[in-house]
Amino acid sequence: MPGSMTRYYEIRRRADTVIIQLPEKVRYIIGSIRKAGYEAFAVGGCIRDSVLGREPDDWDITTSATPRQVKGIFGHTIDTGIQHGTVTVMLEREGFEVTTYRIDGKYEDGRHPKEVTFTPSLFEDLKRRDFTINAMAYNDEAGLVDVFGGIDDIKRKVIRCVGEPKERFGEDALRMMRAVRFSGQLGYEIEANTAGAIRELNTNLKYVSAERIQTELVKLVTSPHPEKLRLAYETGITQVILPEFDICMKTDQNNPHHCYKVGEHILKSMEEIEPDKMLRLAMLFHDIGKPKKITLDEKGIHHFHGHPAVSSEMARDILKRLKFDNRTIYFVTKLVKYHDYDVKPDPAGVRRAILKTGEDIFPLLFQVKAADIRAQSAYMREEKEEKLKAVYQVYHQIISEKQCVSLKDLAVTGKDLIEETGMQAGPELGEALKKLLDFVVEDPSRNKREILLKAVKEFQ
Ligand code: ATP
Ligand code: MG
Repeated sequence: MPGSMTRYYEIRRRADTVIIQLPEKVRYIIGSIRKAGYEAFAVGGCIRDSVLGREPDDWDITTSATPRQVKGIFGHTIDTGIQHGTVTVMLEREGFEVTTYRIDGKYEDGRHPKEVTFTPSLFEDLKRRDFTINAMAYNDEAGLVDVFGGIDDIKRKVIRCVGEPKERFGEDALRMMRAVRFSGQLGYEIEANTAGAIRELNTNLKYVSAERIQTELVKLVTSPHPEKLRLAYETGITQVILPEFDICMKTDQNNPHHCYKVGEHILKSMEEIEPDKMLRLAMLFHDIGKPKKITLDEKGIHHFHGHPAVSSEMARDILKRLKFDNRTIYFVTKLVKYHDYDVKPDPAGVRRAILKTGEDIFPLLFQVKAADIRAQSAYMREEKEEKLKAVYQVYHQIISEKQCVSLKDLAVTGKDLIEETGMQAGPELGEALKKLLDFVVEDPSRNKREILLKAVKEFQ
């Protein structure tokens, strides 16, 4: 929507009042509910983001009307979470979650709220929310409702629980991870009492589902401050959800290429790469196996021979444990496995590397390797970067010339081999094609039908 960027989160401050420009549809929904005689406010993340001058992802609405009453007001609604009081109001194919004011019951063993109770009080609804910055509501008539000091905490740049932190984390342990995640997204500190409560209650995270932890971990590592994972370490969160990382935080690297412990190097490498999920996760895990591979030579230097393979296997185990999807596991484990792969900066060397790592993985390795280098000591940095640049130039040429680097680029197919050489379909045919590909990767001028048909006979 052109022009919408400023419209939605433009805020004017007049004599200490915050004015938020609500999107038209949100105003319409709030207005309709109010006309029917109930209260309604935009609430939570969208208010926080508006105050911060960021465009909200979605606009949640909270209301004194019950789900049934909400459904009576609008023509098209979907029961998205009716048992929790949420109805999605559809306006021209756009959905808005409208949730009845509620008090959350105790979370059963930190997993689900046992029951929710509807309440006529906005105050009660704001009180159940996790952090002060997430517990503000707004409508055009009442203005900003900020009963827990959310604005002050935004000014102070702190994440603070609504109410007594220990109680709040006791109700839902995931909030401890959310605290760190918001700290990464906003670059805020976690207020001392809130952080103290996390230190006391972090073990409760073991009762939280892997899926919920995964969501927060991804939001943290793809945030502007992935290094805030350090806060998760300091407050004991990673000890529960990612103990492998804690070991890295304690592992020295007495080696000229490094100036940080393994854990700090990992944090720095995440900061040095763009905030893409696969890339950030690859950096998180690229050296996770180093503690298992550490050796000390006679000069007192640490080595970590074979760590990429171990890191890749550990990444697979951890990602599975956190219930990541197969595509993520595929990309991340491969990037980890090849992050240290030595690519010779000549055409055959680069083609071999593309073949080895995969056409999908190879181009991403430039970013991974560059971030890794920038997170190391300055020792030989220029040489390392020069070499990477040289590899990139060769790669660029290979791609622009559409040189053969995979079976699909080969000038013969399996069918050709069957028809022309009398070979049978089966594993041998696959082997022959692979050999031909190696043969062509050494010299692209060999990628001609006659040459390959002749070569395949010589292989046999
Ligand atoms: P984002 O959507 O950017 O991840 P958000 O603050 O909107 O951030 P959501 O998970 O969408 O987060 O939740 C919306 C609102 O619901 C929050 O702002 C907060 O008020 C409340 N909330 C969400 N999860 C919890 C929780 N576990 N405990 C208490 N309140 C929560
Ligand atoms: Mg949200």
